[in-house]
Amino acid sequence: MKDTCVFCKIARGEIPAKIVYENSKIIAFLDINPRNEGHTLVIPKAHYQSLLDMPEEILSELLIVAKELCEKMKNKLQAKGFNLVINIGKVAGQEVPHFHLHIIPRYPDDGEVIKFGEIKQKNLEEVYHKLCE
Ligand code: AMP
Ligand code: ZN
Repeated sequence: MKDTCVFCKIARGEIPAKIVYENSKIIAFLDINPRNEGHTLVIPKAHYQSLLDMPEEILSELLIVAKELCEKMKNKLQAKGFNLVINIGKVAGQEVPHFHLHIIPRYPDDGEVIKFGEIKQKNLEEVYHKLCE
């Protein structure tokens, strides 16, 4: 998997990317199909398939890097807000099986960049019992 994984290849410098942050464990680069100006992916350099496989220590560090990038986008791109998105599993739309956090900067009146679908499950009582009892 590591040999063929596109994000491992970016982390190893084998395919080009617009890298906006890098340290020994984490790298961030512009999404090739940006949903908005500055759309960035933050990933661990090591291959972990999804959030559920991420060691907590790297996960915490990655979130701190994401926060710093948001500050930078606020200052340099005049972003006014952000959607941070993590897709976990194919069923949730995860196309690249190497953990990544999307940072999608938001601007006034930029339209429906991220939108949840229709409201489906209104029975909160039932799901609450399943989760908590
Ligand atoms: P996801 O649906 O959460 O797996 O998102 C994968 C994201 O990776 C998509 O937004 C793609 O546009 C992006 N992507 C795929 N290949 C590349 C690449 N070579 N460089 C930058 N972004 C990429
Ligand atoms: Zn990988």
